Amino acid sequence: MAPIVSSLHRGRKKRAALAPDYDHHMDLDYPADAEAFRVEIRAWLVEHLPDGWFDDDFSMTPEERKAFNAAWVPQLYEGGWICASWPKEYGGKGLSLLEQVVLTEEFARASAPLRADFFGDTLVGPTILQWGTEEQKQAFIPRILRGQMAWCQGFSEPDAGSDLASLKTRAELDGDEWVINGQKVWTSLAQHADYIFLLARTDPDAAKHAGISYLLVPMDQPGIEIRPIQQVDGTAEFNEVFLDNARCPKDNVVGGVNNGWKVAMTTLGFERGSSATTGFRRFLKEWDRILEQAQENGASHDPLVRQDLIRSWIDIKVMQINGYRSLTDVLNGTKHTAKLSACNKMFWSESHRRTMELAIDILGMEGQILTGEAGDPNVPGQRGRPDYPVSELQASFFFSRSETIWGGAAEIQRNIIAERALGLPKEPKVAAS
Ligand SMILES: Cc1cc2nc3c(=O)[nH]c(=O)nc-3n(C[C@H](O)[C@H](O)[C@H](O)COP(=O)(O)OP(=O)(O)OC[C@H]3O[C@@H](n4cnc5c(N)ncnc54)[C@H](O)[C@@H]3O)c2cc1C
Repeated sequence: MAPIVSSLHRGRKKRAALAPDYDHHMDLDYPADAEAFRVEIRAWLVEHLPDGWFDDDFSMTPEERKAFNAAWVPQLYEGGWICASWPKEYGGKGLSLLEQVVLTEEFARASAPLRADFFGDTLVGPTILQWGTEEQKQAFIPRILRGQMAWCQGFSEPDAGSDLASLKTRAELDGDEWVINGQKVWTSLAQHADYIFLLARTDPDAAKHAGISYLLVPMDQPGIEIRPIQQVDGTAEFNEVFLDNARCPKDNVVGGVNNGWKVAMTTLGFERGSSATTGFRRFLKEWDRILEQAQENGASHDPLVRQDLIRSWIDIKVMQINGYRSLTDVLNGTKHTAKLSACNKMFWSESHRRTMELAIDILGMEGQILTGEAGDPNVPGQRGRPDYPVSELQASFFFSRSETIWGGAAEIQRNIIAERALGLPKEPKVAAS
């Protein structure tokens, strides 16, 4: 038998050899030019945000909020902050990745909106920049940058959600136009959109993932009917969209006819990855509010609440540090965190859902009654309705239930992690009965 002391010693040597090299510690400081840019953005925000914005007790009535939103987008455009990383030739500012991160951080810190239109700025705009023709870029990108176009995403159908390639909506060429028939569902903000980017089957004889095209279709036409779906908090944010001989120009195909699957995957990549480096901030801000609530009503003395609060805080810190790791990776052109990025959507959405359940627990009885301000269903992004005034925490709780579903359900993310990141065998396909 080997002497215990020497085997312990060998173990220690081995552990030392495997230990991380702490000389290469993480440097969380940004370069000086990025910090100079930060100062510029802060000054712009102070100059342009309404008086009192940074005060603890600042608030706006729904009317004031509506007026602010209407005036804010043109100011953002003037400042060049909408999609500021887009190329200068299409009206963007051509910001570097690090500058874009600093910009997003400063707007998040100030709680100032940075987007004109989520679907335009985050999903279809970058997709057109990557796959679109020169004519499509000229036609759509400047209008997205000016905040003059609202978009919605027409991917999901009643029998095609996680299994998106089962979609049945069809588009056929009729002269210079596509004629589209079918149904989309869960189409967020369709009632406010000028255009829908949708997937339609353009070759019904091709294999499931082939024969799909990515079309840009105007919403204001007789062939499109929108039926809002009301949610539990009264918000009718998403809709059914019926396409009955809807039309769009032949040239409004992005990335080529029958190549829509690849283009759609680009869009979904943006949807799942857009907040990897900065998303944690909104959670941290919300967590601070939940802590305050717990301190106010004494829930913070409950050992189980304390434990759950800390667990949430650690999750948020993990998101932050992993965000820095991903950023470093992109800046250095390395791929150390490629596997990690597959986990991001699953991690933040599940963590946030747990945190909001905790928030409702902490609110206690107050969480069960309506303590918020009346919402206006006609204002995009505003939750609740006049007779169902949810508070901000309640609204966030309700919405967190959907976060593990949209943009790729958590179970699907697990499949992606298993198959693509860990190289496990593919999920067995169940034959249709
Ligand atoms: C708030 C919200 C907004 C949305 N906005 C839009 C939008 O604007 N545009 C749009 O196109 N879509 C939108 N969606 C739709 C969203 O993309 C789909 O809900 C999502 O893809 C899941 O599809 P499904 O609802 O058909 O559920 P299903 O695919 O039927 O899934 C049902 C359940 O089965 C699980 N499941 C399915 N397949 C597997 C599998 N292979 N292995 C393990 N589990 C599986 C799922 O994870 C889920 O839990 C939105 C959804 C929500 C909740």
